[in-house]
Amino acid sequence: MSQTQPINPFAEMQAGRPTGPLVQGYEVIIGFETHTQLTTQSKIFSRASTAFGAEPNTQASAVDFALPGALPVMNKGAVQRAIEFGLAVNAHIAEHSVFARKNYFYPDLPKGYQISQFEIPVVQGGSVEFFLDGEKRAVRLVRAHLEEDAGKSLHEDFIGMSGIDLNRAGTPLLEIVTEPDMRSSAEAVAYAKELHKIVTWIGICDGNMQEGSFRCDANVSVRKPGEPLGTRREIKNLNSFKFMQQAIDFEVRWQIEQIEDGHTIQQATVLFDPDTGETRSMRTKEDAADYRYFPDPDLPPLVIGRDWVEKTRAEMSELPRVMAARFVADYGLPEYDAGQLTQSKATAAYFEAVAAASKQAKLASNWVMGELSRRLNSEEKPIEASTVSAIQLAALIGRISDGTISNNAARQVFDALWTGESQDVDAIIEAKGLKQMSDTGELEKIIDDVLAANAKNVEEVRAGNAKAMNALVGQAMKATKGKANPAQVNELLKKKLG
Ligand code: ADP
Ligand code: MG
Repeated sequence: MSQTQPINPFAEMQAGRPTGPLVQGYEVIIGFETHTQLTTQSKIFSRASTAFGAEPNTQASAVDFALPGALPVMNKGAVQRAIEFGLAVNAHIAEHSVFARKNYFYPDLPKGYQISQFEIPVVQGGSVEFFLDGEKRAVRLVRAHLEEDAGKSLHEDFIGMSGIDLNRAGTPLLEIVTEPDMRSSAEAVAYAKELHKIVTWIGICDGNMQEGSFRCDANVSVRKPGEPLGTRREIKNLNSFKFMQQAIDFEVRWQIEQIEDGHTIQQATVLFDPDTGETRSMRTKEDAADYRYFPDPDLPPLVIGRDWVEKTRAEMSELPRVMAARFVADYGLPEYDAGQLTQSKATAAYFEAVAAASKQAKLASNWVMGELSRRLNSEEKPIEASTVSAIQLAALIGRISDGTISNNAARQVFDALWTGESQDVDAIIEAKGLKQMSDTGELEKIIDDVLAANAKNVEEVRAGNAKAMNALVGQAMKATKGKANPAQVNELLKKKLG
């Protein structure tokens, strides 16, 4: 007698996922929906401009105002960008996808429906890979679909009225939806950062989170390990990585508290308030059925020939994860370094220029990720605005590796380059007297003096006390005003002490 197993649609998903860190005995489940604004000059179904910040309603055409009889015409550039995204995440590009009407009422949506894709999206499947605490993770994508943005309601409190601005109406969006694969707020932020990196790298989105070009909705639920998925609440429009983490952490604590108090979670859409650090319910969640989706009769199915996909594939530049793998293979860098250096195209290009000119890849990586990043961060500058050029940094690295200067002295040289004191590494070393003592004769004399003046330490070293050795090295470095190479001092001391 055979027994029918109950069908669990999430069985496959649950099987492969690691259990995340438990919070008060609960497992956290997160899925993301991200709206990326595409970088086309004009809107998805009209020729109006997409530029940000214009006077209200100056960038809306008859289509965006929903004037009767105005028909949408697909913008090829938006489709091109969707194809590029699909290729970047190893997804399937549908040969045939369909635009649908998502019906709802809101003042900033004069048509009464949003044109989106429902049953057959243009990008299907794929995954986003990244490192979390040194461990490789992959978040699977369900889909990415093309849709139009809505307008904006502007609430003018001081006159007690609201206005509608349709400049944003019809702006092309690619909505990227994940499986509920993330298991902590840290993993969610790491995913969002990686996705942000991919879309800006391939240039389909400018990534400006303040202006709303990259908006994340986080679906969050909790469950006891092994239980079926819990009811989720969706935190809308997270527009900074910091808020993302705070909002999810708050939401998780709130849900656990509710459950522990004997309440059940209601599916809802919530907003995060950065001032209070709390999420609060905006509305109970609609189901897809409420939107009465149906294929838009104004738009034919979107047909993408294989030749278009293959041409796009051939023309795309090296992707960040491919480049990172190359950095590991060609330069022998650790995977962590390679990931950091491929945060942006500009960073990667800068690193490669330093590595090529200095022939010291690891040192180049250390300096780009270390001193240079620190300086750029503290002055909130992008690497393109670095006052130290790749060639100068390579020259500096050359002087470290040939033993001319110590690491400490190198930081002083970097400082002088950064502030523009001088453009020339050797001139700075000369002017500041930073050269390490390379004359062994001179150094030996100094060391002899140190040994003579520190008889007690010498005794202790001979008796096997390592600390006393350090004290001697310190004395010698002091006597040379820090200009000796500590390794060389150590070596000479050992030789002299037998
Ligand atoms: P809708 O389109 O109605 O928002 P979907 O089923 O497409 O619903 O899911 C939207 C997002 O919510 C997806 O990213 C999905 O991974 C995520 N999600 C679904 N169920 C859960 C759950 N129980 N907990 C957390 N996230 C979930
Ligand atoms: Mg949703």
